[in-house]
Amino acid sequence: MNASEALLEAAARVIPGGVNTCRRRSEPRLCFRRGSGAYLEDLDGRSFIDYHAAYGAILLGHSHPAVTARVASAIEQTVLFGVGVTESEVALAEKIVEHVPSVEQVVVCNSGSEATYHAIRLARGVTGREKLIKFQGCYDGFHDYVLRNVLSRPEGVGARDPHSAGMLEAAVDATLVCRYNDLEDVRATLERHGEEVAAIIVEPVAHNSPGLLPRPGFLEGLRELCDATGALLIFDEVITGFRHHIGGYQAVCGVLPDLTTMGKAIANGFPLAAIGGRREYLERLNTTADGDVHFGGTYNGNAAAVEAGLATIAQLEDGTVHEHIFALGERMRSGLAEVADRVGVPAVVGGFGSLFVLCFMDGPLETYEDVLRNDDALFGRYRRELVARGVFEMPESLGRSHIGASHTTEDIDRSLEAAEDALRAAVDA
Ligand code: PMP
Repeated sequence: MNASEALLEAAARVIPGGVNTCRRRSEPRLCFRRGSGAYLEDLDGRSFIDYHAAYGAILLGHSHPAVTARVASAIEQTVLFGVGVTESEVALAEKIVEHVPSVEQVVVCNSGSEATYHAIRLARGVTGREKLIKFQGCYDGFHDYVLRNVLSRPEGVGARDPHSAGMLEAAVDATLVCRYNDLEDVRATLERHGEEVAAIIVEPVAHNSPGLLPRPGFLEGLRELCDATGALLIFDEVITGFRHHIGGYQAVCGVLPDLTTMGKAIANGFPLAAIGGRREYLERLNTTADGDVHFGGTYNGNAAAVEAGLATIAQLEDGTVHEHIFALGERMRSGLAEVADRVGVPAVVGGFGSLFVLCFMDGPLETYEDVLRNDDALFGRYRRELVARGVFEMPESLGRSHIGASHTTEDIDRSLEAAEDALRAAVDA
């Protein structure tokens, strides 16, 4: 038994399953003790190039010096006051408003799930309606409003498919699930329920499926349908925000939502998330004197998160980080397509910008049903072979992978060599 396995066994005595979220169990079992830039070191001292990037929260690289230095110096003076606002909270809100096109006002919280929870309740408060449309294969957080039809198997697609025991039946039924990239499905659902729908929540790029890009006209069509029916359009930019552009994917595609949720890359691994949008909606929060939509959270705006957010955004402002990670993303995606070709395995490389995922199937990769054609067994073997070669992409079904500012061209090329070896081994196994 190696040190990771031993720690996980000890952990399992006091932490159920040994891990603190359901998706941290991996095969092979791994625990890391140090992250630096693009590299991770595990408990046995083995080094890995990291593309898991903590589900995409790490954008600049692990323990980025500008972020950790700013946080360390700030928390000597301030951690949390729980009254009023700090200068840094205001500076952060000003930065988000400056950069994210649809955002006129913004509040912060601690996780992407909190952000989507608050955004949905705000939409319900604003519209006085109860139902929500979400999309098959999109993950918008852990709460009952959205925990439906996430990575459903074929029989779950289009079915009433709550993802967890213990969910409130009424919440499950208030959530209508449509097919991503299928505007007709959304139109038909709105024809049946238009007067009741408070909001449509969508990952503008469906990275949790993974790898599905919006078809031309899909996001524009959602905008039009929301305008026609009075539902609010919520872009869940928890993955895409700050990672695809400092203004989020909305700055790339030009479609502006009413509300935006942000998280992950905004603070390079620190627990910061945000809900932004039109002033008339945000002012309904009971942070204002007349607001009637509750917004609370003891740790909202804590100094570590806010300073990490400010430090991260500062690194993104001149555009060089995005230029770098988009170029490396392109190199990785085209390199992987060539690898699969040379090995002779049917494959499609999904992703956008700094994200990539090598799926083992014939194209196209445009809908959730397409995703289900992936050869999961080969995918799992390939990822495990990668880990054995020092390249860490999460060895779980259909996990997307992330490139960050600290990866280099040499890292990508070395990873592509490992990918070819790993794929040959996975095919031969
Ligand atoms: N929305 C999206 C698009 C996500 O990918 C995630 C997390 N993977 C969430 C919301 C929830 O964020 P968190 O895990 O920080 O609660």
